[in-house]
Amino acid sequence: MTFLIRMAGRKGLDWRVYTLVACVLLLAAMLTGTSWSAVGSSKERKSAAEWQLHTLEVLLETDDLKVATLSMVRGERGYLLTGDAAFLRPYETGLRDTRAGLDRLARLTRDNPQQRIRVRRLSTELQHLHDVLGSIVALEEAGRHGEAIALVKSGAGKDATDLILDELRGIETIEHGLLAIRSEDARAKAVANERYQYALTIVGIALLGLAIWATILVRRALAAAAEARRQLEQKASSDEMTGLSNRRAFMAALDRSVARSADGRKELAYAIFDIDRFKSINDTYGHAVGDAVIAEVARRALAAFRARDLVGRIGGEEFGVILPAANRTEAMDACARMRAAIEAKPITIGRKAIPVTVSIGVAQLRVQEDTVSLMARADEALYLAKNGGRNLVRLAA
Ligand code: GH3
Ligand code: MG
Ligand code: MG
Repeated sequence: MTFLIRMAGRKGLDWRVYTLVACVLLLAAMLTGTSWSAVGSSKERKSAAEWQLHTLEVLLETDDLKVATLSMVRGERGYLLTGDAAFLRPYETGLRDTRAGLDRLARLTRDNPQQRIRVRRLSTELQHLHDVLGSIVALEEAGRHGEAIALVKSGAGKDATDLILDELRGIETIEHGLLAIRSEDARAKAVANERYQYALTIVGIALLGLAIWATILVRRALAAAAEARRQLEQKASSDEMTGLSNRRAFMAALDRSVARSADGRKELAYAIFDIDRFKSINDTYGHAVGDAVIAEVARRALAAFRARDLVGRIGGEEFGVILPAANRTEAMDACARMRAAIEAKPITIGRKAIPVTVSIGVAQLRVQEDTVSLMARADEALYLAKNGGRNLVRLAA
């Protein structure tokens, strides 16, 4: 995330970051959408199951009412035909069961106005049947068998029973219809939900791809910016002609080395070298050849020292060398090697072979000595080398 913030601050690169941030936000929003849709479908499933259960309960209740009604009528008929009081038991059970069943059905359907009307009508019809059957049983009990049979023959009981069975069938039909509508509704919602989830998945995959692409672009842009910065720093700190550290960078490095070794625990040597009689090279071969000579001297010097030593161009044809962890002998040996390497072969530029030598002054850092003093002592040693006839290495006092 920090690199995103860094990138956002940089001009010209921010659209990639915006793309990435937008992808991440959209992905988060999509995940929320998916969870929300999952919660929705689970609720739908639960409500569909509840509706099915409700319909089942209503159907069980209407079935029970049919059985109770018919058992009531059968009991009454049996009693009438045989005069056996045992038949009064199913009659009375039916009576009780129809009342209780009606109550339960009323409770189950109280939220549906259409069913409420039917249940109210059923209640009246049941009451009427109770009355008719009650009268028949009462007449039979009073020994008025003929009147009871006449009442049966009038068909009042049969009509009431048919009405009740019709009413129960009507209630069942409505309930079935409701269940069908709700099932269709739930199915349609499930299909829509499924499509939504597919769409979300496809968009999610696309967004993920986009986010990966944007991340790659952002990383590339960051790497390019870092490389540009590195090159800029390198350019600012190196000398164009020789590729060595320039004066500014070399001095900063020397200051750091001196600070690290000031307590005397780590040794540090410093050397300065200058091309001998360079003016005459310039005068004889021209400035361009002089430049080429400076570059070749730099190459040979670089090859002669250790990788950890730092060679810098501190003046026109003057160079400095920092030799960390080198004692006097090691520093003198390294400088002698370099001097010999330059003298060994004349420098060839075009068809000209130019013999070149350098003079070197070496100084070993003293405890608590500063850079200015160290350089001054090395300069004195160089002066001694020049005065001593040039092409020499001298150690500062
Ligand atoms: P010495 O042995 O005493 O060092 O003699 P010298 O002739 O080398 O004397 P000095 O070091 O004072 O000469 C430096 C000359 O180098 C002066 C200047 O014209 C020349 N010079 C400085 N910078 C450059 C450069 O970048 N290219 C070229 N071609 N010449 C340079
Ligand atoms: Mg010189
Ligand atoms: Mg000089």
